[in-house]
Amino acid sequence: MSSLRQPYLSSRLQGFGTSIFTEITLLAQRYGALNLGQGFPDFDGPEEIKEAAIAAIRGGTNQYLRSMGLPALNAAIAAHERRFYGLTFDPDREITVTSGATEAICATLLALCETGDEVLIFEPFYDSYRPCIAMAGAVEKRVLLSGPGFDFDPAELAAAVTAKTRLILLNSPHNPVGKVFTRQELELVAELCLRHDLICVTDEVYEHLVFSGEHLPIACLPGMAERTVKISSTGKTFSFTGWKIGYTCAPAPLSAAIRTAHQFITFCNSGPFQPALALGLGFGDDFYEELREDYRRKRDLMANGLREAGFGVDDPAGTYFIVADIRPLGWQDDVAFCRMLPEKVGVAAIPASAFYVDKAAGRHLVRFAFCKKEDVLRDGIEKLKRVPRGDAR
Ligand code: PMP
Ligand code: GLN
Repeated sequence: MSSLRQPYLSSRLQGFGTSIFTEITLLAQRYGALNLGQGFPDFDGPEEIKEAAIAAIRGGTNQYLRSMGLPALNAAIAAHERRFYGLTFDPDREITVTSGATEAICATLLALCETGDEVLIFEPFYDSYRPCIAMAGAVEKRVLLSGPGFDFDPAELAAAVTAKTRLILLNSPHNPVGKVFTRQELELVAELCLRHDLICVTDEVYEHLVFSGEHLPIACLPGMAERTVKISSTGKTFSFTGWKIGYTCAPAPLSAAIRTAHQFITFCNSGPFQPALALGLGFGDDFYEELREDYRRKRDLMANGLREAGFGVDDPAGTYFIVADIRPLGWQDDVAFCRMLPEKVGVAAIPASAFYVDKAAGRHLVRFAFCKKEDVLRDGIEKLKRVPRGDAR
């Protein structure tokens, strides 16, 4: 072994190390803490969907499927896009089922970026974006979301576009800050895409978890459908994050490119979950409304609880995450805070600086996931009321 050239990790991936979600979940397990860190529900999705997956296993949906997805699932996705957004996608040519949104993001970037192309992302960003940009040999350009509303400066965004920019990667509703981009903001992004002939890749995995404002896919804006790759995940909507069924919706030429990458990354995804989620996507409006209202209650419970515990909190407009300011509790450093929390308080949370390159911009924030049972959230809040005062200077 000693003669093997080191380091083993390629230069493209140097510095990315272990994901913050894995690190914090391990810490939660070590101290038996409530895990309000990693964003996965501590409850399962609908029984009917589970039964459909079990029936699919018994019924023999157990071999490789069509690479771009089981026809029934692609058809259910197309119907979902038409029903909620009035968007029309050909299920066989324009929809690709992937291993979660994670693969969708990776396959899209690998497929669409030339070495040296620039990809514009907003900071803070979801953790997989930068490693995927790096694996694609592309170069990231970041635009800061700042202030209480996590707004971007339109002039800064426009200035970030260069002759090398290939695409803008947009996440709305936004993990970690819970921002839902407004129509006006999306119009600014769209205008730049049209003016500079850019692709927009949108990560819309929390599309059904919007509590104020509305979720508007940028593909709905004039001229954008032909240049947008819309990414979703059934994991969030149906509370089966471990099933890892995501998908892309994009015009046929972009989909063909994505499929080329997809077929050599995973080829196809887990079979029995696909008919089950096709069933779920077709659930009536009451399912989607209940999901939103359940999460709205959890959000209110968590936001109010965090405020009572002394954190600085604004209600997030979407997602199942809240970022909380630790400075009112006398803490300055999110990493120190999140390392202390599982052991001393019995709760785990994610340091928001993990979502920033400019660590100082997120140092005062920690992210709590509220996709947990209400009694778990209540228990968590009680514990958080006993957070020791930090070493404020
Ligand atoms: N994008 C965002 C913004 C996410 O929060 C997540 C997961 N929480 C993903 C992508 C990945 O989704 P999946 O689990 O379907 O791979
Ligand atoms: N997306 C989840 C979160 O933000 C984590 C998923 C993962 O661990 N890769 O918490």
